[in-house]
Amino acid sequence: AVQSRVAAVTGANKGIGLAIVRNLALTYPSSPLRQGPLTIYLCARSASRGAEAVKTLENDPQLKQARVLAQHGGDTTITFHQFDVSDQSSIHNFRDFLRNTHPDGIDILINNAGIAMDGFNTEVVKQTLATNYYGTLEATQSILPLIRDGGRLVNVSSMAGKLNKYSPELRHAFIAASKSQVADCTSLMQDFTKAVQDGNEKELGWPSAAYAVSKAGTTAFTKAIAAQNNKVLINACCPGYVNTDMTKGNGVKTPDQGAKTPVMLALDDINGSSGGFWQSEKIIEW
Ligand code: NDP
Repeated sequence: AVQSRVAAVTGANKGIGLAIVRNLALTYPSSPLRQGPLTIYLCARSASRGAEAVKTLENDPQLKQARVLAQHGGDTTITFHQFDVSDQSSIHNFRDFLRNTHPDGIDILINNAGIAMDGFNTEVVKQTLATNYYGTLEATQSILPLIRDGGRLVNVSSMAGKLNKYSPELRHAFIAASKSQVADCTSLMQDFTKAVQDGNEKELGWPSAAYAVSKAGTTAFTKAIAAQNNKVLINACCPGYVNTDMTKGNGVKTPDQGAKTPVMLALDDINGSSGGFWQSEKIIEW
């Protein structure tokens, strides 16, 4: 029998990721999945920014008042772990750490780390896909086997990855890939990369937007992996337009509001839903 729970959140030193960790801690005591103490790995690529974020949460007035953390008499622990989603050895290092530290498995992975770069050229496409698509895919495939039956995997994608920006042919290709295999999703990312190199992505029906395509790919592979897994509930979501460094002060939701859907997908009874694309706590059209 499961005696305790383990969760991990990537890109959690600031923004939506930090709010996800905070709200996992606040929500867990009343979650239907509650089962003993909770360990949350707050993952960040920078050790100093990660440690700083753990400190911020240890001094968070709401967490103090709710007495959920171990140092305030609760049974939730927030621990930093290094994790760079653009570095395969860092992903594998975290996977190996989890496997060794929690040989019975973990319960929740929230892949939140992501970038939005300015501009549009082959270098921006390369770096954006490396982090948002290939890195998130590698993290998903590496850590999913460690998630126990009934556990959750949540990929923070975006409404920017909705399919209304594509030619009908590409839209159909994304939908077909999402119902078929990860390799078909990756092959769409390769087609986009080549089209940008050739300078003809518009003619071929793509938007000239690296971030949007990386998130369409993330939603696609999340659905493809969910369709082939009947043990873990695997969903993609958009947090909404959230005021963080990424949106440069233009977002309209607070990070806590942005954390709502990912935390729900991790801790609520979602009626067995898997392979959905969610926003505002509902499945929406991709
Ligand atoms: P922020 O820029 O505020 O935070 C991004 C987080 O990801 C930071 O912790 C950052 O770490 C981390 N990160 C970036 N690159 C890497 C990497 N290579 N390895 C590990 N961590 C990394 O953005 P948000 O909080 O707004 O975004 C969080 C997620 O939500 C992203 O996936 C984003 O695409 C998505 N999203 C956001 C929306 C919004 O309106 N804000 C809308 C839709 C989706 P560091 O501090 O080291 O850079």
